Amino acid sequence: MLRFAEAQQRVLSAVSPVGVERVPLAQANGRYLAQEITATLDLPPWDNSAMDGYALRAADLSRVPVMLTINEVLAAGHQTAAEVKEGTASAIMTGAPVPPGADTVVIVENTDGALSGSVRVLSQTPAGANIRRRGEDVRRGQSLLQRGRRLEAAEVGLLASLGQREVCVAKRPVVAILATGNELVQPGAALGPGQIYSSNTATLRGLVLQAGAEVLDLGAATDTQESVCAALRRASGADVIVTTGGVSAGVFDVVRAAFDELGVHWDFWKIKMKPGKPVAFGWLQEQADRSLVFGLPGNPVSCMVTFLQFVRPCLLSMVGDDKPFLPMIETIAGQAFQKKSERTEFVRVRLERQGRDWVCFSTGSQSSGVLTSMVSGDGFALLGEEVRAVAQGAPVRVQVYNPRLLHRAVEVDG
Ligand code: AMP
Ligand code: MG
Repeated sequence: MLRFAEAQQRVLSAVSPVGVERVPLAQANGRYLAQEITATLDLPPWDNSAMDGYALRAADLSRVPVMLTINEVLAAGHQTAAEVKEGTASAIMTGAPVPPGADTVVIVENTDGALSGSVRVLSQTPAGANIRRRGEDVRRGQSLLQRGRRLEAAEVGLLASLGQREVCVAKRPVVAILATGNELVQPGAALGPGQIYSSNTATLRGLVLQAGAEVLDLGAATDTQESVCAALRRASGADVIVTTGGVSAGVFDVVRAAFDELGVHWDFWKIKMKPGKPVAFGWLQEQADRSLVFGLPGNPVSCMVTFLQFVRPCLLSMVGDDKPFLPMIETIAGQAFQKKSERTEFVRVRLERQGRDWVCFSTGSQSSGVLTSMVSGDGFALLGEEVRAVAQGAPVRVQVYNPRLLHRAVEVDG
Protein backbone atom coordinates (compact mmCIF):
# COMPACT_ATOMS: atom_id res chain seq x y z
CA MET A 1 0.00 0.00 0.00
CA LEU A 2 1.18 3.49 -0.81
CA ARG A 3 2.54 5.59 2.03
CA PHE A 4 0.62 8.73 2.88
CA ALA A 5 3.38 11.28 2.24
CA GLU A 6 4.21 9.74 -1.12
CA ALA A 7 0.54 9.84 -2.16
CA GLN A 8 0.43 13.54 -1.32
CA GLN A 9 3.51 14.18 -3.45
CA ARG A 10 2.07 12.21 -6.36
CA VAL A 11 -1.05 14.35 -6.32
CA LEU A 12 0.95 17.56 -6.30
CA SER A 13 3.14 16.43 -9.15
CA ALA A 14 0.06 15.81 -11.33
CA VAL A 15 -1.17 19.39 -10.82
CA SER A 16 -0.89 21.99 -13.53
CA PRO A 17 -1.74 25.64 -12.91
CA VAL A 18 -5.16 27.00 -13.87
CA GLY A 19 -5.39 30.01 -16.20
CA VAL A 20 -5.48 33.63 -15.10
CA GLU A 21 -8.10 36.38 -15.36
CA ARG A 22 -8.50 40.05 -14.42
CA VAL A 23 -11.16 40.80 -11.85
CA PRO A 24 -12.39 44.07 -10.31
CA LEU A 25 -11.15 44.60 -6.75
CA ALA A 26 -14.73 44.13 -5.54
CA GLN A 27 -14.41 40.46 -6.55
CA ALA A 28 -10.84 39.92 -5.45
CA ASN A 29 -11.34 38.71 -1.89
CA GLY A 30 -10.20 35.13 -1.40
CA ARG A 31 -8.61 34.99 -4.85
CA TYR A 32 -4.96 34.17 -5.51
CA LEU A 33 -2.62 36.66 -7.12
CA ALA A 34 -1.34 35.72 -10.56
CA GLN A 35 0.99 38.73 -10.81
CA GLU A 36 3.61 40.26 -8.59
CA ILE A 37 2.45 43.60 -7.16
CA THR A 38 5.01 46.39 -7.27
CA ALA A 39 4.25 49.81 -5.81
CA THR A 40 3.46 52.39 -8.48
CA LEU A 41 3.28 55.21 -5.92
CA ASP A 42 4.87 56.34 -2.69
CA LEU A 43 2.48 55.87 0.21
CA PRO A 44 1.74 58.24 1.69
CA PRO A 45 2.40 60.32 -1.45
CA TRP A 46 3.58 63.33 0.61
CA ASP A 47 4.41 64.20 4.22
CA ASN A 48 1.13 64.61 6.10
CA SER A 49 -0.11 65.17 9.58
CA ALA A 50 -0.84 62.14 11.76
CA MET A 51 -2.93 64.23 14.16
CA ASP A 52 -5.23 67.22 14.39
CA GLY A 53 -3.09 70.11 15.64
CA TYR A 54 -0.72 72.83 14.45
CA ALA A 55 2.14 72.61 11.97
CA LEU A 56 4.99 74.84 13.07
CA ARG A 57 8.75 75.13 13.58
CA ALA A 58 9.98 73.18 16.61
CA ALA A 59 12.53 75.96 17.21
CA ASP A 60 9.61 78.30 18.08
CA LEU A 61 8.82 76.15 21.11
CA SER A 62 12.07 76.75 22.96
CA ARG A 63 10.01 78.51 25.59
CA VAL A 64 6.39 77.53 26.30
CA PRO A 65 3.67 78.60 26.57
CA VAL A 66 4.09 80.65 23.41
CA MET A 67 1.67 82.57 21.17
CA LEU A 68 1.99 81.94 17.41
CA THR A 69 0.13 83.71 14.59
CA ILE A 70 -2.20 81.40 12.67
CA ASN A 71 -1.53 81.35 8.88
CA GLU A 72 -4.49 79.25 7.75
CA VAL A 73 -6.47 76.08 8.46
CA LEU A 74 -5.37 73.02 6.47
CA ALA A 75 -7.92 70.25 6.04
CA ALA A 76 -7.27 66.83 4.48
CA GLY A 77 -7.58 67.30 0.72
CA HIS A 78 -6.00 70.76 0.85
CA GLN A 79 -3.82 71.38 -2.19
CA THR A 80 -1.37 74.19 -1.54
CA ALA A 81 -0.23 75.67 1.68
CA ALA A 82 1.54 78.86 2.72
CA GLU A 83 5.04 78.57 4.10
CA VAL A 84 5.20 78.41 7.88
CA LYS A 85 7.55 81.18 8.95
CA GLU A 86 9.10 81.91 12.33
CA GLY A 87 6.48 82.82 14.92
CA THR A 88 3.58 81.34 12.96
CA ALA A 89 1.62 78.12 12.83
CA SER A 90 -0.96 76.56 10.51
CA ALA A 91 -3.86 74.67 11.99
CA ILE A 92 -3.75 71.23 10.40
CA MET A 93 -6.07 68.22 10.35
CA THR A 94 -5.12 64.56 10.15
CA GLY A 95 -4.15 63.63 6.59
CA ALA A 96 -3.49 67.20 5.37
CA PRO A 97 -0.12 67.82 3.67
CA VAL A 98 2.47 69.32 6.02
CA PRO A 99 3.10 72.90 4.78
CA PRO A 100 6.59 73.98 3.74
CA GLY A 101 8.68 75.42 6.55
CA ALA A 102 7.00 73.35 9.29
CA ASP A 103 9.01 70.55 10.85
CA THR A 104 6.62 69.33 13.55
CA VAL A 105 2.95 69.03 14.48
CA VAL A 106 1.74 69.90 17.96
CA ILE A 107 -1.44 68.06 18.86
CA VAL A 108 -4.48 70.22 19.44
CA GLU A 109 -4.78 68.97 23.04
CA ASN A 110 -1.50 70.79 23.83
CA THR A 111 -2.83 74.16 22.64
CA ASP A 112 -5.81 76.43 23.29
CA GLY A 113 -7.34 75.21 20.00
CA ALA A 114 -7.80 78.65 18.37
CA LEU A 115 -8.55 78.64 14.63
CA SER A 116 -7.99 82.33 13.89
CA GLY A 117 -5.75 85.08 15.19
CA SER A 118 -3.16 83.42 17.42
CA VAL A 119 -2.82 80.03 19.01
CA ARG A 120 -1.34 79.43 22.42
CA VAL A 121 0.95 76.38 22.45
CA LEU A 122 1.32 74.90 25.90
CA SER A 123 4.03 72.28 25.64
CA GLN A 124 7.11 71.40 23.65
CA THR A 125 7.10 68.92 20.79
CA PRO A 126 10.29 67.65 19.15
CA ALA A 127 10.98 68.18 15.44
CA GLY A 128 9.47 65.44 13.29
CA ALA A 129 6.68 64.53 15.71
CA ASN A 130 3.22 63.56 14.39
CA ILE A 131 4.31 63.67 10.76
CA ARG A 132 3.76 60.69 8.47
CA ARG A 133 6.59 60.82 5.98
CA ARG A 134 6.21 60.38 2.26
CA GLY A 135 6.87 56.73 1.40
CA GLU A 136 7.02 55.51 5.00
CA ASP A 137 4.37 52.86 4.25
CA VAL A 138 5.34 51.94 0.70
CA ARG A 139 8.10 53.14 -1.61
CA ARG A 140 7.46 53.37 -5.32
CA GLY A 141 9.08 50.39 -7.07
CA GLN A 142 9.00 48.26 -3.93
CA SER A 143 7.80 44.68 -4.34
CA LEU A 144 4.68 44.27 -2.19
CA LEU A 145 2.88 40.99 -2.90
CA GLN A 146 4.05 37.81 -4.58
CA ARG A 147 2.20 35.54 -6.98
CA GLY A 148 0.18 32.87 -5.22
CA ARG A 149 -0.68 35.16 -2.32
CA ARG A 150 -4.27 34.85 -1.16
CA LEU A 151 -5.95 38.24 -1.23
CA GLU A 152 -7.58 39.00 2.11
CA ALA A 153 -9.10 42.31 3.19
CA ALA A 154 -5.77 44.05 3.90
CA GLU A 155 -4.19 42.98 0.60
CA VAL A 156 -7.20 44.19 -1.40
CA GLY A 157 -7.08 47.46 0.55
CA LEU A 158 -3.40 47.85 -0.32
CA LEU A 159 -4.19 47.43 -4.03
CA ALA A 160 -6.93 50.05 -3.72
CA SER A 161 -4.51 52.43 -1.97
CA LEU A 162 -2.27 52.16 -5.04
CA GLY A 163 -5.21 53.20 -7.19
CA GLN A 164 -5.65 49.78 -8.78
CA ARG A 165 -9.17 48.94 -9.98
CA GLU A 166 -8.51 45.42 -11.16
CA VAL A 167 -6.10 42.65 -10.35
CA CYS A 168 -4.82 39.62 -12.18
CA VAL A 169 -5.73 36.43 -10.31
CA ALA A 170 -5.77 32.69 -10.90
CA LYS A 171 -9.09 31.42 -12.26
CA ARG A 172 -11.12 29.53 -9.72
CA PRO A 173 -10.68 25.80 -10.23
CA VAL A 174 -14.04 24.14 -10.89
CA VAL A 175 -14.68 21.07 -8.74
CA ALA A 176 -17.41 18.65 -9.75
CA ILE A 177 -18.86 16.79 -6.77
CA LEU A 178 -20.77 13.51 -7.07
CA ALA A 179 -22.15 11.54 -4.13
CA THR A 180 -22.87 7.85 -4.67
CA GLY A 181 -24.99 5.39 -2.73
CA ASN A 182 -28.40 3.69 -2.99
CA GLU A 183 -29.09 4.72 0.60
CA LEU A 184 -28.75 8.47 0.05
CA VAL A 185 -31.60 10.94 0.33
CA GLN A 186 -31.26 14.69 -0.12
CA PRO A 187 -31.84 16.83 2.96
CA GLY A 188 -35.42 18.06 3.05
CA ALA A 189 -36.94 14.83 1.70
CA ALA A 190 -38.49 12.14 3.92
CA LEU A 191 -36.25 9.27 5.03
CA GLY A 192 -37.37 5.76 4.06
CA PRO A 193 -36.23 2.55 5.74
CA GLY A 194 -32.46 2.02 5.45
CA GLN A 195 -31.91 5.51 4.08
CA ILE A 196 -29.68 8.32 5.34
CA TYR A 197 -29.32 11.94 4.40
CA SER A 198 -26.42 12.65 2.11
CA SER A 199 -24.05 14.97 3.97
CA ASN A 200 -20.85 14.64 1.98
CA THR A 201 -21.85 17.06 -0.76
CA ALA A 202 -22.61 19.71 1.85
CA THR A 203 -19.28 19.32 3.65
CA LEU A 204 -17.32 19.11 0.41
CA ARG A 205 -18.99 22.22 -0.90
CA GLY A 206 -17.77 24.12 2.17
CA LEU A 207 -14.26 22.75 1.84
CA VAL A 208 -14.12 23.58 -1.87
CA LEU A 209 -15.28 27.15 -1.26
CA GLN A 210 -12.77 27.57 1.58
CA ALA A 211 -10.05 26.53 -0.82
CA GLY A 212 -11.12 29.31 -3.20
CA ALA A 213 -12.62 27.00 -5.83
CA GLU A 214 -16.07 26.66 -7.41
CA VAL A 215 -18.55 23.83 -7.07
CA LEU A 216 -20.29 21.97 -9.89
CA ASP A 217 -22.84 19.85 -8.02
CA LEU A 218 -23.56 16.59 -9.84
CA GLY A 219 -26.01 15.42 -7.18
CA ALA A 220 -26.10 11.78 -6.16
CA ALA A 221 -25.83 8.60 -8.24
CA THR A 222 -27.04 5.14 -7.31
CA ASP A 223 -24.65 2.23 -7.02
CA THR A 224 -24.65 1.21 -10.66
CA GLN A 225 -21.93 1.82 -13.18
CA GLU A 226 -24.46 3.40 -15.57
CA SER A 227 -25.76 5.85 -13.01
CA VAL A 228 -22.25 6.92 -11.96
CA CYS A 229 -21.05 7.20 -15.56
CA ALA A 230 -24.08 9.23 -16.61
CA ALA A 231 -23.47 11.69 -13.76
CA LEU A 232 -19.74 11.91 -14.46
CA ARG A 233 -20.35 12.76 -18.12
CA ARG A 234 -21.80 16.04 -16.87
CA ALA A 235 -18.45 16.89 -15.27
CA SER A 236 -16.72 17.73 -18.51
CA GLY A 237 -14.79 20.95 -18.23
CA ALA A 238 -14.24 20.57 -14.48
CA ASP A 239 -10.64 20.93 -13.32
CA VAL A 240 -11.20 18.39 -10.57
CA ILE A 241 -13.78 15.64 -10.13
CA VAL A 242 -14.52 14.39 -6.64
CA THR A 243 -16.78 11.45 -5.91
CA THR A 244 -17.69 10.05 -2.52
CA GLY A 245 -18.49 6.47 -1.63
CA GLY A 246 -18.41 3.30 -3.66
CA VAL A 247 -14.66 3.18 -3.91
CA SER A 248 -13.79 0.25 -1.61
CA ALA A 249 -14.01 -3.44 -2.35
CA GLY A 250 -17.73 -4.18 -1.87
CA VAL A 251 -19.91 -5.55 -4.68
CA PHE A 252 -21.73 -2.21 -4.92
CA ASP A 253 -18.51 -0.23 -5.12
CA VAL A 254 -18.75 0.67 -8.78
CA VAL A 255 -16.98 4.01 -8.87
CA ARG A 256 -13.66 2.76 -10.15
CA ALA A 257 -15.31 0.68 -12.83
CA ALA A 258 -17.25 3.76 -13.94
CA PHE A 259 -14.09 5.82 -14.12
CA ASP A 260 -12.41 3.00 -16.07
CA GLU A 261 -15.25 3.14 -18.56
CA LEU A 262 -14.61 6.88 -18.98
CA GLY A 263 -10.88 6.28 -19.47
CA VAL A 264 -9.32 7.48 -16.22
CA HIS A 265 -5.58 6.92 -15.84
CA TRP A 266 -5.15 5.68 -12.28
CA ASP A 267 -2.25 6.66 -10.13
CA PHE A 268 -3.29 5.02 -6.84
CA TRP A 269 -6.38 3.74 -5.10
CA LYS A 270 -5.32 2.65 -1.60
CA ILE A 271 -3.26 4.50 0.96
CA LYS A 272 -1.71 3.56 4.28
CA MET A 273 -3.78 6.05 6.23
CA LYS A 274 -6.64 6.00 8.73
CA PRO A 275 -9.29 7.07 8.19
CA GLY A 276 -9.35 7.07 4.43
CA LYS A 277 -7.66 3.90 3.20
CA PRO A 278 -9.74 3.56 0.04
CA VAL A 279 -9.02 6.72 -1.91
CA ALA A 280 -8.49 6.64 -5.62
CA PHE A 281 -6.56 9.22 -7.58
CA GLY A 282 -5.99 9.62 -11.30
CA TRP A 283 -6.83 11.85 -14.22
CA LEU A 284 -8.95 12.09 -17.32
CA GLN A 285 -7.21 13.54 -20.34
CA GLU A 286 -9.29 15.11 -23.10
CA GLN A 287 -6.91 16.60 -25.66
CA ALA A 288 -5.08 19.37 -23.83
CA ASP A 289 -7.52 19.39 -20.90
CA ARG A 290 -6.84 17.30 -17.86
CA SER A 291 -9.31 16.75 -15.03
CA LEU A 292 -7.84 15.35 -11.85
CA VAL A 293 -10.05 12.67 -10.39
CA PHE A 294 -10.45 11.78 -6.72
CA GLY A 295 -12.61 8.89 -5.55
CA LEU A 296 -13.04 9.65 -1.86
CA PRO A 297 -14.50 7.22 0.65
CA GLY A 298 -18.16 7.60 1.68
CA ASN A 299 -17.74 7.72 5.42
CA PRO A 300 -18.22 11.39 6.30
CA VAL A 301 -15.00 11.72 8.32
CA SER A 302 -12.90 9.77 5.83
CA CYS A 303 -14.32 11.96 3.12
CA MET A 304 -13.28 15.15 4.91
CA VAL A 305 -9.85 13.84 5.94
CA THR A 306 -8.97 12.72 2.43
CA PHE A 307 -10.26 15.96 0.94
CA LEU A 308 -8.13 18.02 3.32
CA GLN A 309 -5.04 15.88 2.72
CA PHE A 310 -5.24 15.51 -1.06
CA VAL A 311 -7.86 17.66 -2.77
CA ARG A 312 -7.25 20.86 -0.83
CA PRO A 313 -3.48 20.85 -1.50
CA CYS A 314 -4.24 20.10 -5.14
CA LEU A 315 -6.63 23.07 -5.42
CA LEU A 316 -4.27 25.45 -3.63
CA SER A 317 -1.35 24.36 -5.69
CA MET A 318 -3.37 24.91 -8.91
CA VAL A 319 -3.79 28.58 -8.02
CA GLY A 320 -0.15 29.03 -7.12
CA ASP A 321 -0.20 28.82 -3.31
CA ASP A 322 3.22 27.50 -2.34
CA LYS A 323 2.01 26.37 1.10
CA PRO A 324 -0.83 24.07 0.13
CA PHE A 325 -0.85 21.82 3.20
CA LEU A 326 -2.74 22.40 6.45
CA PRO A 327 -0.53 24.30 8.89
CA MET A 328 1.18 22.05 11.41
CA ILE A 329 1.78 23.04 15.01
CA GLU A 330 3.77 21.46 17.83
CA THR A 331 1.48 20.45 20.72
CA ILE A 332 1.59 18.41 23.91
CA ALA A 333 -0.58 15.33 24.37
CA GLY A 334 -3.17 16.16 27.04
CA GLN A 335 -3.87 12.45 27.35
CA ALA A 336 -2.37 9.15 26.21
CA PHE A 337 -3.13 8.02 22.64
CA GLN A 338 -3.09 4.36 21.55
CA LYS A 339 -2.65 3.28 17.98
CA LYS A 340 -3.27 -0.18 16.57
CA SER A 341 -2.83 0.21 12.84
CA GLU A 342 0.38 0.45 10.88
CA ARG A 343 -1.08 3.32 8.92
CA THR A 344 -0.66 7.07 9.41
CA GLU A 345 -3.56 8.08 11.63
CA PHE A 346 -5.37 11.39 11.73
CA VAL A 347 -6.86 11.66 15.20
CA ARG A 348 -9.38 14.45 15.62
CA VAL A 349 -8.30 16.56 18.57
CA ARG A 350 -9.44 19.62 20.41
CA LEU A 351 -6.71 22.19 21.05
CA GLU A 352 -6.41 24.06 24.29
CA ARG A 353 -3.97 26.84 25.10
CA GLN A 354 -2.18 26.18 28.40
CA GLY A 355 0.34 28.91 29.14
CA ARG A 356 2.70 28.93 26.18
CA ASP A 357 1.71 25.47 24.96
CA TRP A 358 -1.01 24.06 22.81
CA VAL A 359 -2.36 20.89 24.41
CA CYS A 360 -4.39 18.37 22.41
CA PHE A 361 -7.22 16.09 23.56
CA SER A 362 -9.06 13.45 21.56
CA THR A 363 -12.59 14.47 20.56
CA GLY A 364 -13.80 11.01 21.64
CA SER A 365 -14.96 8.28 19.24
CA GLN A 366 -12.67 8.17 16.24
CA SER A 367 -15.05 6.12 14.11
CA SER A 368 -14.94 7.34 10.53
CA GLY A 369 -18.71 7.82 10.53
CA VAL A 370 -18.75 10.20 13.50
CA LEU A 371 -18.98 13.62 11.90
CA THR A 372 -19.30 15.31 15.31
CA SER A 373 -15.63 14.38 15.86
CA MET A 374 -14.81 16.88 13.10
CA VAL A 375 -17.23 19.47 14.46
CA SER A 376 -15.76 19.46 17.98
CA GLY A 377 -12.19 19.08 16.74
CA ASP A 378 -9.67 21.74 15.78
CA GLY A 379 -7.08 19.60 14.09
CA PHE A 380 -5.64 16.19 13.30
CA ALA A 381 -3.01 14.75 15.63
CA LEU A 382 -0.69 13.09 13.15
CA LEU A 383 0.42 9.66 14.35
CA GLY A 384 2.97 8.29 11.90
CA GLU A 385 3.10 4.68 10.67
CA GLU A 386 5.74 3.63 13.19
CA VAL A 387 4.00 5.17 16.23
CA ARG A 388 2.24 2.71 18.57
CA ALA A 389 1.33 4.98 21.47
CA VAL A 390 1.80 8.52 22.64
CA ALA A 391 2.21 9.13 26.37
CA GLN A 392 0.44 11.98 28.10
CA GLY A 393 2.78 14.99 28.06
CA ALA A 394 4.67 13.82 24.96
CA PRO A 395 5.01 16.12 21.94
CA VAL A 396 2.48 15.63 19.11
CA ARG A 397 2.23 17.43 15.81
CA VAL A 398 -1.22 18.65 14.92
CA GLN A 399 -2.49 19.81 11.55
CA VAL A 400 -4.94 22.63 12.21
CA TYR A 401 -8.15 22.56 10.17
CA ASN A 402 -10.48 24.73 12.26
CA PRO A 403 -10.70 28.02 10.35
CA ARG A 404 -11.19 29.90 13.62
CA LEU A 405 -7.79 28.73 14.82
CA LEU A 406 -5.85 28.74 11.57
CA HIS A 407 -4.67 32.32 12.00
CA ARG A 408 -3.46 31.67 15.57
CA ALA A 409 -1.45 28.63 14.58
CA VAL A 410 2.28 29.12 14.85
CA GLU A 411 3.50 26.95 12.09
CA VAL A 412 6.46 24.63 12.38
CA ASP A 413 8.17 23.02 9.40
CA GLY A 414 6.14 20.10 8.08
P1 AMP B 1 -19.09 3.55 0.95
O1 AMP B 1 -17.76 4.20 0.87
O2 AMP B 1 -19.96 3.79 -0.22
O3 AMP B 1 -18.96 2.11 1.30
O4 AMP B 1 -19.82 4.24 2.18
C1 AMP B 1 -19.30 4.14 3.48
C2 AMP B 1 -20.28 4.71 4.48
O5 AMP B 1 -20.45 6.10 4.22
C3 AMP B 1 -21.65 4.10 4.43
O6 AMP B 1 -22.13 3.99 5.74
C4 AMP B 1 -22.46 5.12 3.65
O7 AMP B 1 -23.82 5.09 3.97
C5 AMP B 1 -21.83 6.42 4.08
N1 AMP B 1 -21.99 7.43 3.05
C6 AMP B 1 -21.70 7.29 1.74
N2 AMP B 1 -21.98 8.41 1.06
C7 AMP B 1 -22.46 9.29 1.96
C8 AMP B 1 -22.93 10.64 1.87
N3 AMP B 1 -22.96 11.30 0.70
N4 AMP B 1 -23.35 11.24 3.00
C9 AMP B 1 -23.31 10.59 4.17
N5 AMP B 1 -22.89 9.33 4.32
C10 AMP B 1 -22.47 8.66 3.23
MG1 MG C 1 -21.70 3.19 -0.94
